[in-house]
Amino acid sequence: MRILIVEDDPGISSFIDKGLRAEGYQSEIAGSVGAARALLASPGFAIDLVLLDRGLPDADGATLLEEMRGSGDQTPVIVLTARGQVADRVAGLNAGANDYLAKPFAFDELVARIRAALRTTEQPGATELVAGDLRFDLLSKVATRGATRIELSQREWTLLELFLRHPGQVLSRAQILSAVWDYSFDPGSNVVDVYVGYLRKKLDRPGEESLIATVRGAGYRFISS
Ligand code: CA
Repeated sequence: MRILIVEDDPGISSFIDKGLRAEGYQSEIAGSVGAARALLASPGFAIDLVLLDRGLPDADGATLLEEMRGSGDQTPVIVLTARGQVADRVAGLNAGANDYLAKPFAFDELVARIRAALRTTEQPGATELVAGDLRFDLLSKVATRGATRIELSQREWTLLELFLRHPGQVLSRAQILSAVWDYSFDPGSNVVDVYVGYLRKKLDRPGEESLIATVRGAGYRFISS
């Protein structure tokens, strides 16, 4: 899981960054709305959650939130702010924030809220992920392509679910490794390539382009159709 920290106070951002890494998350820091915007727009940048300060040097963090929601980006956002008043809280939630945390906060509380926000990301009622004629049932963990039922091992379906949740995005081996195995897994291992190979064998049709494209020097991208 990769978290974007949008915070201009280097003391706070490095405190959060170190804490999140210790919890096994990957994190990126942006010190302004402009820097966050640039990161979010960069090719292959996939993020699972945003921690967003309001008081940023170039704009109110709420601007970024409004832009994200306006463009249909439903990535969970937790607003962090020193402005603890009720009016600010309501404004933040109205702008599309998933949660709100007033500074100063205990790190444990932040982590608990991150976990809760990540759990609620799924579309209410959605029980399957679909890409073209490929369907993955989130409850039974069974995939089908057209009329063909595809049995998957746990690692395979976890990997497939990751790809289906990030269609069209380049996912690096390190991102995949941390999401499907965990951050303590040896980064020099070729396990990601091996499992992408297993998935391709099960999902792809002979003579057709693979659903999972190799992006040289960057990672893999699930073809969104
Ligand atoms: Ca600030």
